[in-house]
Amino acid sequence: RKSWTDSEFNAALKNAYEKYKDYKEGANANYIPELDKVDPELFGLAIVTVDGKIFSAGDLNTEVSIQSISKVFTMARVVEDSGALEVLEKVGVDATGMVFNSIIAIEMNKGKEINPLVNPGAIATTSLVKGNTYDEKWNMIKSTYDDFAGRKLGIDQPVYESEAATNQRNQAIAMLLNAYGRMYFDPIETTDIYTKQCAVAVNAKDLAIMAATLANGGTNPVTKKKVVSYQTVAHVIPVMATAGLYDDSGQWIYNVGLPGKSGVGGGIIAFYPGQFGIAVISPRLDAAGNSVRAQESIKHIVAELGSNPFYVQ
Ligand code: GLU
Repeated sequence: RKSWTDSEFNAALKNAYEKYKDYKEGANANYIPELDKVDPELFGLAIVTVDGKIFSAGDLNTEVSIQSISKVFTMARVVEDSGALEVLEKVGVDATGMVFNSIIAIEMNKGKEINPLVNPGAIATTSLVKGNTYDEKWNMIKSTYDDFAGRKLGIDQPVYESEAATNQRNQAIAMLLNAYGRMYFDPIETTDIYTKQCAVAVNAKDLAIMAATLANGGTNPVTKKKVVSYQTVAHVIPVMATAGLYDDSGQWIYNVGLPGKSGVGGGIIAFYPGQFGIAVISPRLDAAGNSVRAQESIKHIVAELGSNPFYVQ
C-alpha cells in the first residue's frame, strides 16, 4: 500500500502507544554517565508524511540526545558536498557486523571495511565535512541538522560534557584510523566535534521531520526547504538499510523492511521512501544498543499499516 488516511496513521500510533506504554524491557545506556539519568519511561511516537502532515502519540516535547542518529545527517552533508565516491573511497560503506564502537572492525581491514553509520566510519565522515577549522566544520554540521529538523536545535550540554570526559575509546578509534591514513582532520578535534553532534537535543517530532525529509528526497516537507539532493538520499538509504541498527541491522530490515537508524539516547528513525518518516523515542536499550520499545512499536505500526515497502502484491 502506498497511501494511508489520517485516521489510519493516528490509529496505528495510538495502538502502538497503548500496547507498549507499560513495556519496560531493556536498560538505559550507562557507558555515557549522563544517559543513565534520562527518564526511562519517556515514550514519544511521531509520523510525518511527505506532504508535511504530522501525527503523534505520547510525549512529543521531551528531548533526548540524538546520538548515533546524527550519523545519517553528517553522512548526507558529506555526500552532498563532496560526492558519493568520497564516502565510498575514503570511509567505506560495508556493514561491519560488529558492535558500533568496534576496534577490531578497523583493525581487520586497515580501516577500510567500515561505514559512516557506526563509530569509526562516523568519526571519519565527520572529519570529511567541509571547513578548515573546528568551528567551520561544526557550523556546517549543526546547520544541516537544523535544516533537516526545520528549527534551531539545542545541545544537551551535560550529555556533551559527560561524553567528552569519558570518550577515550572514540579517541582511540580516531587515532587508529589516523594511523591507517583514514582520518581527514585532526583526530582529537574531530572526535570532539563528533561528540558534540551526538549531543544535539531532539524530540520525537524533530526526529520524524528529519526522517520525513529523507523520505521526501531531501526536501523538508514542513519548511519546504531543499536540504540535500535526492541523489544524496539515494546513497544514504542503502547504508541505513544495511547498517542502521548496529549489529542487529539484518534482523531489523528482515522484520520491518524500512531503512532506519537508532541512537543510544533511545531514538529510532525509519522511513518509507516517497511516503513518510517515523520516529520513536524510548531510552531503554537492548544489548546491541537499540531501543527495545522503539523497535517493537515501529514493527507494530508497520504491520498495522501494511507499510513494508517489500510487500509487492
Ligand atoms: N556518542 C555515542 C558514541 O559515540 C553514540 C553511540 C550511538 O548512539 O551508537 O559512543
